[in-house]
Amino acid sequence: MSQKFAGVKGMNDLLPGEIERWQEVETAAREVMGRYGFAEVRTPILEDTGLFVRSVGETTDIVGKEMYTFEDKGGRSVTLRPEGTAPAARAYIEHAVFVKEPVTRWFYIGPMFRYERMKTGRYRQFWQIGVEAYGVKEPAQDAEIIEMAMHFFSSIGLSKVKLHLNSLGDEGCRPAYVEKLVAHLAAHRAELCPDCQARLERNPLRILDCKNESCRAVTAASPSVLESLCEPCRAHFDEVQRLLTLFGVPYALDSRMVRGLDYYTRTAFEFIAESPVLGTATAVGGGGRYDKLVKSLGGPDVPAVGFALGLERLVLLLAETGQKPLARPELFIAFTDKASQDAALKLAQALRHQGLWVELDERGGSLKSQMKRADKSGAKWAVVLGERELLANEAELKPMAGGDVRKVRLDELASALRSA
Ligand code: AMP
Repeated sequence: MSQKFAGVKGMNDLLPGEIERWQEVETAAREVMGRYGFAEVRTPILEDTGLFVRSVGETTDIVGKEMYTFEDKGGRSVTLRPEGTAPAARAYIEHAVFVKEPVTRWFYIGPMFRYERMKTGRYRQFWQIGVEAYGVKEPAQDAEIIEMAMHFFSSIGLSKVKLHLNSLGDEGCRPAYVEKLVAHLAAHRAELCPDCQARLERNPLRILDCKNESCRAVTAASPSVLESLCEPCRAHFDEVQRLLTLFGVPYALDSRMVRGLDYYTRTAFEFIAESPVLGTATAVGGGGRYDKLVKSLGGPDVPAVGFALGLERLVLLLAETGQKPLARPELFIAFTDKASQDAALKLAQALRHQGLWVELDERGGSLKSQMKRADKSGAKWAVVLGERELLANEAELKPMAGGDVRKVRLDELASALRSA
């Protein structure tokens, strides 16, 4: 008896036709981040559960309800990583990278897992491109990685992504702010949604970015974190803004943006896009400074700042711009009989060895059906090999998009294609 299976809900297959855009985005990320001095790291998908509880924070949605956690066969509690910053910090500490270099700049590209309610642009396995810069406490690093992200967006053709900026203060000034905030919110407890009423005790800052309308009305009048910053946090934030202006990066201050993870201190930011598919004001990425994270995970007192971008959302936005991925064969070779099939296979071999993308229909069939296949492949050029062409060592190179055919010698096909 055969049985049919479906993929796990919220986890997507990526097939050719779609994957090309992913590759385009990933290639651009590697290229751009390389230029800013970031090197790629790959950490395991499974980590000790405690790593996320400790870093992301017990009261966050991620740790509270979204993690894929299970016991492995040895009885250890492990978790499919819900984000990349904690694993990177774990690796950074475990390999004592700080001993070898004072400043470390890493990026990663990989899948993350959160048991979330699904909708377009929100999945249970999703991919992130993330960046972590360790060892620089100066605001210049914040501004530089933000500028890098904005440059990355425009380099892939997303020119309308907006930057929202905030500062969450630090352990010096945040507690006093949270106290003021709780006092305000507690006075309006009845107007808050049930989730936010629970957050009042556990994670009051999160109430600030609740999307519920009555919560938003309450928080609109709440004290602003930006008015409660201590002098060093204020100076840091001013300098981040000055440098963004120097770089020509526009931004909007958003004192209600708090991010969903506990480890942020000072600068926090989000990259926001408007899109018919994703909806209004969807975050394509976000990040901030986390100066205490490395220390809290047993490492030295090393400051850090980073961000993560959602690959699915980037790809969805790119699809909306209508830009077509460029990947397609350079040449399709059709053939008329057995002898020319051998010649076509040999020619394809030679051209592929010379670096060209060549396709043919190994099943043969009528010329008409082969040309249909050529059309479908998206090839730029097609050539038909038959007895006549082989005898003359010359064939007609046909532009698939229409236009004049040109005669080329078969042994000069590679250079003809390159200069075409
Ligand atoms: P976060 O790690 O929550 O700050 O998320 C950073 C970025 O990852 C977001 O701005 C999204 O683009 C993306 N992201 C987060 N959660 C999901 C999800 N469940 N599905 C798809 N993308 C996500």
